[in-house]
Amino acid sequence: MNSTNIFSNQTALITGASRGIGKSIALQLAQTGLEVVVNYSNSQEKAEEVVQTIKGAGGKAYSVQANVSDESEVDRLIKTITSQSGKVDILVNNAGITKDGLLMRMKTEDWQSVIDLNLSGVFLCTRAISRLMLKQKSGRIVNITSVVGLMGNAGQGNYAAAKAGVIGLTKSTAKEFASRGITVNAVAPGFITTDMTKDLDAQNILAAIPLGCFGTPEQVAGAVKFLATDPAAAYITGQVIQVDGGMVMS
Ligand code: NAP
Repeated sequence: MNSTNIFSNQTALITGASRGIGKSIALQLAQTGLEVVVNYSNSQEKAEEVVQTIKGAGGKAYSVQANVSDESEVDRLIKTITSQSGKVDILVNNAGITKDGLLMRMKTEDWQSVIDLNLSGVFLCTRAISRLMLKQKSGRIVNITSVVGLMGNAGQGNYAAAKAGVIGLTKSTAKEFASRGITVNAVAPGFITTDMTKDLDAQNILAAIPLGCFGTPEQVAGAVKFLATDPAAAYITGQVIQVDGGMVMS
């Protein structure tokens, strides 16, 4: 593995790392020499492929199944990691879903499941891991939000509410944890080519992107890796970095 070993002896948990953006984050962080915990919900084979890719390149990784919107499963996930690795230095809250629909017709269960994973899942993992990080007096937390959380989007009221909530949670936890050496930041991707966006109308969306193309999971992973890097990002906390081709400029 082309490892720079800037993180040797550290462990990172990436939620939803079997596919898409989470997979790229896992692969890029593993290249730095740290141990990666590849969390997934259903895609056991894909998660195992990520683990094998990392190991095949000389890195360290293992997978743990857990639905991170479920408190008892998050507890089991953290127990598994503490018994196997002893600690978590970097948490990337990436797992997310969409259940789109106009608000007037949105089913309560589609509202709830998106809030449960995309917002409450971030809370549950952050609360559980922060207990370890606060004792260590160090840690990096990176939350994956979305430009939709900044600008809203017709047909994504549930998703926009959850992602805006993640931004508020990021800033609040950044303030709570700063005195203990823990930074908390968010990355807000625009439209990135993954399973999540494969059915969207590309032409309409492209017209709204100044750089004129969709982003890649690797480009999002690059921003996450930077925010996790010590000392380069050690003085950055409570920030939202957009990786969106210029889609949202404020
Ligand atoms: P994706 O390709 O659909 O992958 C989603 C990942 O989340 C998978 O690894 C999936 O695991 C995991 N997951 C789903 N439900 C889970 C649960 N209950 N517990 C644990 N893991 C679960 O999505 P993506 O496009 O990479 O998106 C990743 C993150 O970026 C999400 O938070 C998303 O909202 C955000 N984002 C994406 C875009 C975009 O354009 N793609 C833009 C802005 C923000 P399984 O494989 O086991 O199902």
